[in-house]
This record gives sequence, C-alpha cells and structure tokens, in this order.
Amino acid sequence: DHLVNQIAAGEVVERPASALKELLENSLDAGSQNLQIELQAGGTKLLKVIDDGCGIAKEDLALALHRHATSKIASMEDLARVATLGFRGEGLASVASVSRLSLTSRFTDRDNGGQMSAHAWRVEADHGRMLDPEPAALAIGTTIEVHDLYHQVPARKKFLKSDATEYAHCAAMIERLALANPNVQFTVMHNGRAQHRWMAGDLAKRAAAIIGDEFVKTGIPVDEGFGNLRLHGIAGSPTLGKSSRDAQFFFVNGRFVRDKVVQHALREAYRDVLHHNMHAAFCLFLEMDPEGVDVNVHPTKIEVRFRESQAIYRFLITSLSKALAKTTA
Ligand code: ADP
Ligand code: MG
Repeated sequence: DHLVNQIAAGEVVERPASALKELLENSLDAGSQNLQIELQAGGTKLLKVIDDGCGIAKEDLALALHRHATSKIASMEDLARVATLGFRGEGLASVASVSRLSLTSRFTDRDNGGQMSAHAWRVEADHGRMLDPEPAALAIGTTIEVHDLYHQVPARKKFLKSDATEYAHCAAMIERLALANPNVQFTVMHNGRAQHRWMAGDLAKRAAAIIGDEFVKTGIPVDEGFGNLRLHGIAGSPTLGKSSRDAQFFFVNGRFVRDKVVQHALREAYRDVLHHNMHAAFCLFLEMDPEGVDVNVHPTKIEVRFRESQAIYRFLITSLSKALAKTTA
C-alpha cells in the first residue's frame, strides 16, 4: 500500500509546485481569507501554508491524510458537478506519502454558528506513516508543513530542477490562484525573505499587483454573457508591449487552464477587431455550467475538455469582440 501510494503520488505531485497547489486549493476550499505561504529551497525543503479556513475536526484529521478521503463529494454523481477545487481525496495522501508532513488544525463548525473546538490538534506523518493526533495550539484554521518533499524517493528526486526553477514554478502557481481569488490575502516568503504581499481586493487591484499597473490602466474591461456562459475580466491592450506577452491568464470556473480553443478564439478576436496579430496579455474568467466542461482530467494538467467546444469558441470570439469594439468606437 505504501509503495502504491508513492507511485500514485508521482501522478498528482510532480514537483513542489503541484504539492503546493493541492495545499492552497484545500485552504481556498475551506473558505480561507488569508493565506500565508512559506517556502524553503524552492519548496523542496519546506512548503508551509497557514490558513484561516474552517479547519478539520479531530476525528477527520487522520482521515484527511488517507487516499480517497474527501469531505467534498457525497456520491459519484456529484463528480460531474463539483464546485470546489479539490474533489478526488488524493491530494493530501499523495503529498504525505512522499514527505514528512505535519497538519495542525482547529475546527470551526460553520454549520453551527461558528462554534470552535476547544483547541487545535496536530497529526504528523512520515512518508505516509501516521502518528496519533495530539493537542496543539493554533488560533484558527489549518497550518500544514511539508518537509523534504521527495528527499527519500530517489526516482522522483532526480526529476527536480534547481531550487530557483522549482521556486519559479511555485510562484507561477501562486499567481494563478491569487488572480482567481482576489478577495483573499496572500503573503509569500521564500528562504526567510518576503516575496509578495497581496491585500484582499478586487480583480483590478490584484491584477495591478501581479501583472502590472499599466496592464490594468490600459486594459479593456470585459463582462459579457450569453445563456449559461459568462466571460469577465480584463483584456490587455495590444499596445502594452512584449513584456506582458506571457501574462496570459484564463480561468474556467475558477481554475487556470491553457486551451487551444480558448487561445485561438482570443487571437481571432484581437485580430478581427483591432487588426492586431500580436498576442496581448489578458486575465479572463469563463463561468459556465460545470457539466459542460470536463474537470476530471489529470490533476497536474491544465487542459480542459469542453463538451461543446464550437459553442464556447463562438461565444469567446463574440463576447471579446464586443468588449474590444467598445474601445475602438
Ligand atoms: P480533496 O481536496 O480532493 O477533498 P485532499 O486530499 O486534498 O482531498 O484533502 C482531504 C480532505 O482534508 C479535504 O476533503 C478536507 O476535508 C480536508 N482538508 C485538507 N486541507 C484542509 C484545509 N486547509 N482546511 C480544511 N480542510 C482541509
Ligand atoms: Mg484537495
């Protein structure tokens, strides 16, 4: 079982950034308003997330580290309709099987008037081997520490790149989650040094902090809807210049994706309306019926599969063209 877990872990947790993604998505699913992230050595030595979410009750703590233990779906039919970011119940188990992990949490019963448990509990796991929960001190939420990810799994360790590269992957991951959740405060430290502090606000404020002031100042606000589809966010002005080219963020129901249909539609709209062949920066959100998009793809992949990709394609071109046209009118 231990080996099976470690092999499966490689599927979910490719590198520190993917482990961090699992941790942060859990914190966001738990309704956190403030996330503190501390990394050491690109996340290979330490990944630490402090959140102020609903926490985990003592009796669920050990369970949270078990494969296929999820509090987020009651039945398999729910799978198609998942609104939360995590739903497979394999994120934490995977991370725990290839690291030394400590999970401290104080449960707030939000269904019961916010009643808090008397104190927090901590459970520690060493490569999947778990100790019993012990009482701990923590004011609110969950604090999770992942030490030495893959240090004892040579087959995986050799795929890790330099600390700087692993940190860059982590930072890119954090940016995506921070753009999708501008109402949540993020603080990022690496090797004891402060990297980012993004206060809670709206998308314009968050995008200014992450993509740049110019992007927001010269950008074109987008908010178009048709049926169950809605596209909103900021389409960057193509005059912004090359530096913003890789600032292309597209989210489907809050998840960052990179998709050919989307890329193609956006390029087409820019070309048709602004006669501009250059890629522009953008930060756009597509909201749609979850049943129309396959989220049950590989956990580390950022591709999506739309049921009706032609309809999505047309909607994206139409709504983005409409928004862009307003600026040229
Ligand atoms: P999933 O997110 O797919 O449900 P995970 O393995 O990532 O599975 O997490 C297992 C469970 O542990 C979650 O369903 C949730 O109940 C709990 N959990 C994990 N992290 C947190 C957190 N930061 N705050 C509250 N609950 C958490
Ligand atoms: Mg999860």
